[in-house]
Amino acid sequence: MNRQQLTEQLKSTPEFDICIIGGGATGLGIAVDAASRGYKTALFEQLDFAKGTSSRSTKLVHGGVRYLQQGNIKLVMEALKERGLLLKNAPALVSNQKFIVPNYKWWEKPYYGIGLKIYDWMAGSLGIGPSELLSKEETLALAPTLDPEDLTGAVLYHDGQFDDARLAISLAKTAVSLDAVVLNYFPVTALLKKQNNVCGVQVKNSLTGKEYSVSSKVVINATGVFTDRILSMDNPAHEALISPSQGIHLVVDKEFLPGDTAIMIPKTDDGRVLFAVPWHDKIVLGTTDTPVDTVEEEPRPLPDEIDFILTHIGRYLTKDPQRSDVKSMFAGLRPLVKGKSKITATLSRDHLITISESDLITVTGGKWTTYRKMAEDAVNLVAEKLQSQITCVTHELKLKPLKPVPAEISQLEETQIKELIRYCAEQEMCQTVEDFLSRRTRQLLLDTRKAIALAPLVAGTLAELLQKEDVWVQAQINNFKELAKNYLPDTQ
Ligand SMILES: Cc1cc2nc3c(=O)[nH]c(=O)nc-3n(C[C@H](O)[C@H](O)[C@H](O)COP(=O)(O)OP(=O)(O)OC[C@H]3O[C@@H](n4cnc5c(N)ncnc54)[C@H](O)[C@@H]3O)c2cc1C
Repeated sequence: MNRQQLTEQLKSTPEFDICIIGGGATGLGIAVDAASRGYKTALFEQLDFAKGTSSRSTKLVHGGVRYLQQGNIKLVMEALKERGLLLKNAPALVSNQKFIVPNYKWWEKPYYGIGLKIYDWMAGSLGIGPSELLSKEETLALAPTLDPEDLTGAVLYHDGQFDDARLAISLAKTAVSLDAVVLNYFPVTALLKKQNNVCGVQVKNSLTGKEYSVSSKVVINATGVFTDRILSMDNPAHEALISPSQGIHLVVDKEFLPGDTAIMIPKTDDGRVLFAVPWHDKIVLGTTDTPVDTVEEEPRPLPDEIDFILTHIGRYLTKDPQRSDVKSMFAGLRPLVKGKSKITATLSRDHLITISESDLITVTGGKWTTYRKMAEDAVNLVAEKLQSQITCVTHELKLKPLKPVPAEISQLEETQIKELIRYCAEQEMCQTVEDFLSRRTRQLLLDTRKAIALAPLVAGTLAELLQKEDVWVQAQINNFKELAKNYLPDTQ
């Protein structure tokens, strides 16, 4: 994945078939689908790949036990099928994760036991392991820090787990290997129109300041919570489509939940589920569902959300995590499709594809887990428009494996870290300190203080590779320190 070469490819292509705005799960999935059907494809991401919601998920490839509780059978079946396909097509990036639902009341074992048997059954031949009923002793052997008082046992089930930002890079690499032009730090600044129909985009290489007019037969808006901004470029009077909802995660040390089994708490005070999931040798706790009015590139966890997670998880563990135990926290915004309901937890996680009067296609909603199906549906629509019915091949398309990059690097030797920075800059379009510490490695999300300490080394090494001046180095360090403040709670 070489930026220079891809920029040249952009300049030498007179017209693309499909141009995608947004380099998150949705846009990258569409790029892979479109390129694998042979369409000339371009994708532009305004910042880094997965900088938006797609690097801030709970890291689950799942059918969604919660949606089963809500009776959304279609969504769960679709997601379970996608879970199975992803495990087959990206086996190095997705793994099988055991979860337990602890039982403290007499009815919980039969209720969740039957529910999870239905979940197993819905996965059909793509199932990844049967659910089981566990005794109290078996439960505590898997999760020794669960509060033993009144515990009667648990229901164990399986779901998938992944590293969202790494899967995004694998999708970008897969698309490039299929001849797509995929570029980060390339914001779309305007839509090009001919006789009131969208026929391309105006983009800017934000690292050089150069602008390009890109012609394309079809333009797809895959900008997640930023969807309405692109729709406003098309029609300033459009009706808002997205109802953003914030979800946060806290990351704590493994001592709070040793072992390799995750916990799923099926009912919080606001009727949601709460997870405690082992991830890269830490525990991720989350999440919340808070409707928000403004959409920001760096959403910040609210004090109430932090308290909500700590209070709820504390009810189930022998040692309650405190604010001072939080190694990192991160917030993401769900691009939920607007409904009449004011409570976002009840809005649909289904995806939506719309076409504007000027033929701009918008793909939004959905989940990471269902990115492939969203892409298939979107490109089927494009195929119809282009009258070239080439069928989808991504059911069986193996995604490009990546060189394993350790998620936490603070314990590595300086020379090893420098080697990783070189690899990520040369092969994975890593352009900034944040790209490296937040999404190529996951140091920022796993231990923010250690990430801050590494910023000067990363900035200096990147500057040599990218031929940047000292002022760039200082600006990178300062920007990263400022950004990192959003990843640590106030402990007063
Ligand atoms: C808290 C939370 C937990 C979640 N957990 C899970 C989970 O465990 N499993 C699961 O399956 N799903 C999960 N999801 C859902 C999943 O993360 C999202 O559905 C998915 O990441 C959305 O991807 P997207 O590409 O639509 O949006 P985004 O990832 O936000 O991508 C949109 C991109 O468009 C770019 N963009 C915006 N404007 C422009 C422009 N003008 N030019 C170029 N680029 C532009 C943005 O920079 C951004 O990178 C979770 C979501 C949240 C919020």
